[in-house]
Amino acid sequence: MTAGSSTNLERAKLRFIEDLKEAGITARSVLEAIKKVPREAFMPPAFKAASYENRALPIGEGQTISQPYIVALMTHALDVQPAHKVLEIGTGSGYQAAILCKLARRVYSIERFSSLAAGADKLLATLNITNFVGKVGDGSVGWPEQAPFDRIIVTAASPKVPQPLLEQLKVGGLLVIPIGPQEGEQRLMRYYKRNDGTIGEYFLGNVRFVPLVGKEGLKPDAKSA
Ligand code: SAM
Repeated sequence: MTAGSSTNLERAKLRFIEDLKEAGITARSVLEAIKKVPREAFMPPAFKAASYENRALPIGEGQTISQPYIVALMTHALDVQPAHKVLEIGTGSGYQAAILCKLARRVYSIERFSSLAAGADKLLATLNITNFVGKVGDGSVGWPEQAPFDRIIVTAASPKVPQPLLEQLKVGGLLVIPIGPQEGEQRLMRYYKRNDGTIGEYFLGNVRFVPLVGKEGLKPDAKSA
């Protein structure tokens, strides 16, 4: 990358941060985390110049790195605190995980494609992020050996809320997940586990995500991937 292009990216990032503030993403910790993580490192080589455009882009295996605004919105809604243990389902490029790692004590992340998981692992190590633990598997059933979690974020769309994820959430914990069909829009939801174990819900907006393919998501045989 040339010095000129990195200056352009830096400017685009600062503009993007201003746009986020305008859109109501005001938590200083979230904006700082976004500022610290170079999205260009997670982008496909041909698209690095578009790192701070609000677009989802291909990362291989038919998957995408999510739009940066949606990453910011989901991170903001998750209200991560420094002592938190966070579970992410759908590591993908590792960009969302890198941001969560700047906010939380430890981030556990599950990806169903080993090629993507390996790429993310390598990239996060290159960025000296040491509080990330990744694994390959079906995240729709969560990570029972590491539960409970203070926060859970799912970056793929599920037809319904996976019950194991609610069970693996601490009391007082938050789960952010897109719910809806594979085609078309889904509803980005935040679930809250109350002291008595009941679940509150809050609608964050309409989104479009690739499907959560697994036992508690879209059944693998319903999708030839
Ligand atoms: N968080 C990612 C990032 O920052 O680049 C974007 C994730 S992409 C929109 C959704 C990811 O979820 C894909 O990489 C996909 O392979 C993964 N995925 C889908 N179903 C899954 C499952 N059951 N378990 C784990 N990962 C899954």
